[in-house]
Amino acid sequence: MTLIHKSAAELAALIASGEVSAVEVSRAHLDRIAEVDEQVGAFLHVAEDAALAQARAVDARRAAGEELGPLAGVPIAHKDVFATTDMPTTCGSKILEGWRPPYDATVTRRLREAGLVILGKTNMDEFAMGSSTENSAFGPSRNPWDLSRVPGGSSGGSSAAVAAFEAPLSTGTDTGGSIRQPAAVTGLVGMKPTYGGSSRYGVVAFASSLDTPGPFARNVLDAALLHAVFSGHDPRDSTSIDAPVPPVVEAARQASVEGLRVGVVNEFSGEGYQPGVLARFHEACALLEEFGAKVVEVSCPSFRYAMPAYYLIAPSECSSNLARFDAMRFGLRVGDDGTRSAEEVMALTRAAGFGPEVKRRIMIGTYALSSGYYDAYYGQAQKVRTLITRDFTAAFEQVDVLISPTTPTTAFPIGERADDPMAMYLADLCTIPANLAGNAAISVPCGLADEDGMPVGLQIMAPVLGDDRCYRVGAALEAAYRDRWGGSLLEKAPAF
Ligand code: GLN
Repeated sequence: MTLIHKSAAELAALIASGEVSAVEVSRAHLDRIAEVDEQVGAFLHVAEDAALAQARAVDARRAAGEELGPLAGVPIAHKDVFATTDMPTTCGSKILEGWRPPYDATVTRRLREAGLVILGKTNMDEFAMGSSTENSAFGPSRNPWDLSRVPGGSSGGSSAAVAAFEAPLSTGTDTGGSIRQPAAVTGLVGMKPTYGGSSRYGVVAFASSLDTPGPFARNVLDAALLHAVFSGHDPRDSTSIDAPVPPVVEAARQASVEGLRVGVVNEFSGEGYQPGVLARFHEACALLEEFGAKVVEVSCPSFRYAMPAYYLIAPSECSSNLARFDAMRFGLRVGDDGTRSAEEVMALTRAAGFGPEVKRRIMIGTYALSSGYYDAYYGQAQKVRTLITRDFTAAFEQVDVLISPTTPTTAFPIGERADDPMAMYLADLCTIPANLAGNAAISVPCGLADEDGMPVGLQIMAPVLGDDRCYRVGAALEAAYRDRWGGSLLEKAPAF
């Protein structure tokens, strides 16, 4: 097995013991990026010099006898929504092209402090709005399982990078599904921590009451290790939870479902779901029972209204958050020739700098928040949000975790949904409720769909601050599949 095929935990152990250097590990991944990224398009920016310098620093610390953290020297691909002082931060938008943040996001800072090596910044749907990366101003990323298909989104560059073995780990943000959905369609583990469990400081804001940074990895333990490194209380984020990080690494190692009560969300299977997705989902339910869980059906009636509520709340917040791109403070400025007013320059810049989906959301949000419509749209959506939270609370009185398919279908072909926003929005049907309620939720691979041979994801949802349960169940399933498949799902990926 070459270095790029090893897990993050294995790489960290090799580096800590001195069997390989952090520089060798980074070099191997940078070579892989040079070899395949022209086809995959995972990265917007590769930071070769900065990465090698960081790797050398880790090697020097080891040589000096310093104790290294659990992921020191391990390379990581970083979503371009996180502020990085030494690399561009574009958020997949022309309006931020050329902008260099004056500070690091808390997640960025914690990665650096833990000795992770940031290889570069990954592609994403513009301002994290989308499910395919096709809304990136810099072109789409591709799914390593089938280059004609999308890698999901909005964190699609991050999922593509890890699935193509360009990095063992990556970061994402999940506002309505942007970590779990891309993880599901590329055969990865992707975790949305409890809202407030990971810091939003220095994350370019889309919908502030929903945005949640989280990890991507090729196995559950690696995801837990990364989760533990960058999450936890941050006084710079006013909605950060001041509580210890749930014991996610211990849970990933525990990997048992014995005696656990698992609820199948009734509303999330049936019509509109790809048969191959449902088949794998039902198999996963049977496996959980076989391993000692008690699987029951649970009804969460308000989940049906989660998508319409989300598409009022998220655009409302985005219309306010994106007002800061005023042509004066960041990146692009169009038409500032001395003859135009500030207002005209702002209008020209926003017209040229934002893509169609971002403009659509700003308009929907501005409308939903406008006087006379506020109660009918935004107010109503907030009431639905409360009902969804109540459904979760009631469900978690009966069961320890809830499960569903992560997405209704496998990865779709590039272009198929690009001109049909409603079809695109449906990719997040099952993931949105956990964002609206702030719960923890993970996607783990559960096999390949018979129709197209593409990966299928299983979603495990846990209560607020019950993140460890996601890892515990995910790891148990992963172990069961390892026996069944004789290895990890990604070893079956045809293209790479
Ligand atoms: N696909 C959803 C949207 O377009 C979710 C995006 C996200 O989680 N950032 O809003």
